[in-house]
Amino acid sequence: MATTHKTRMLIIGSGPAGLSAAIYGARAGMEPIVVQGLQPGGQLTITTDVENYPGFRDVIQGPWLMQEMQAQAEHVGTRMLWDTITEVSLDGPPFRAHGDSGDVYEGEVLVIATGAQARWLGVPGEQEFGGKGVSACATCDGFFYRGKKVVVIGGGNTAVEEALYLTNHSPEVTLIHRRDSLRAEKILQDRLMSNPRIKVLWNKAVTRFTGVAGGVLEAVQLVDTVTGEESSLATDGAFVAIGHAPATELFKGKLELDESGYIVVQPGTPKTAIPGVFACGDVMDHTYRQAVTAAGTGCMAALDAERFLAEHAFAAAQAVAAE
Ligand code: FAD
Ligand code: NAP
Repeated sequence: MATTHKTRMLIIGSGPAGLSAAIYGARAGMEPIVVQGLQPGGQLTITTDVENYPGFRDVIQGPWLMQEMQAQAEHVGTRMLWDTITEVSLDGPPFRAHGDSGDVYEGEVLVIATGAQARWLGVPGEQEFGGKGVSACATCDGFFYRGKKVVVIGGGNTAVEEALYLTNHSPEVTLIHRRDSLRAEKILQDRLMSNPRIKVLWNKAVTRFTGVAGGVLEAVQLVDTVTGEESSLATDGAFVAIGHAPATELFKGKLELDESGYIVVQPGTPKTAIPGVFACGDVMDHTYRQAVTAAGTGCMAALDAERFLAEHAFAAAQAVAAE
């Protein structure tokens, strides 16, 4: 039978943003409910080594970090529920979210922390060598390729920035692009072209990532998009940088989204245009997209949610007193 779950603070998403909001929200007495979605723990559960999340001297594992974050959120009083939200109603408060299970979730405030997903090429070997040579985040994984040869796939700002960043670690970075011109901004293109560590392969598409089965990536197989000629390029690491897709389908027509589909918030805050609805983490951030920044904005969402509820309660009390 369908159940309605009521809470002061409803959080959609269980990555670093949602769980940080939950930790702060629970400690502030908002008794949060987190609806976890299809990827409990978020994007870090599909990576291995994490070396840039503060507080850990040694390399830690992404799935372990997220288990700890969830345990911490539960320890302070968060209710974690396994469901996927399929529809939201933002004419609140209360705000309502409908789960795939048939259950309904109702919150006096709503925190959206549904994240973003890197776009992948979808070619053979990409999943097999994921975390073993194939990555979608140079800031996260570039350090593991110190002194090694790497390739970056894509022709937008992200690809060019990733290629430039990787030259901090790698003596030989090859940008592979499917056309003969980049879509990245001119200033980034100029930096790319003048960097002696970077080569560009034009009109090439990756058709397969290869290596010994069960081992690490050894090469990318290419096809020339003009001539059809096939070739192979040996590499230690491949960074797929063909864009990200924020998980904002649910909010189309209900909240303002920017041209790339990210939720628009008031600058420097997690506040959306609807009082009581907050967005944090990668779903509102196409610039930084890191676990620590997601956690930071999750904290901000909880602090603002608490203020919103306090102001709301005060206004309601004043209205009653005036009657
Ligand atoms: P996410 O982690 O994307 O979590 C989104 C959550 O929303 C998930 O729990 C999902 O199930 C839920 N959700 C989505 N839609 C719904 C729905 N309809 N209903 C209910 N729930 C929903 N960052 C670093 O700082 N260091 C690293 O080393 C690092 N390595 C990375 C390696 C990889 C392979 C990837 C992909 C990313 C890496 N990142 C790293 C980036 C980091 O993972 C993200 O910046 C961070 O996870 C964003 O957190 P988030 O909470 O905003 O969203
Ligand atoms: P993007 O601008 O959409 O570029 C994606 C690139 O990947 C394009 O060059 C595209 O090729 C290529 N691509 C897409 N699908 C592909 C496939 N299946 N196979 C091979 N190549 C494929 O994405 P982005 O670079 O991530 O940028 C997203 C947004 O964030 C943009 O608005 C960008 O300006 C912004 N951004 C800004 C900054 C900054 O201001 N410093 C930094 C990063 C991102 P085609 O060119 O052939 O289509």
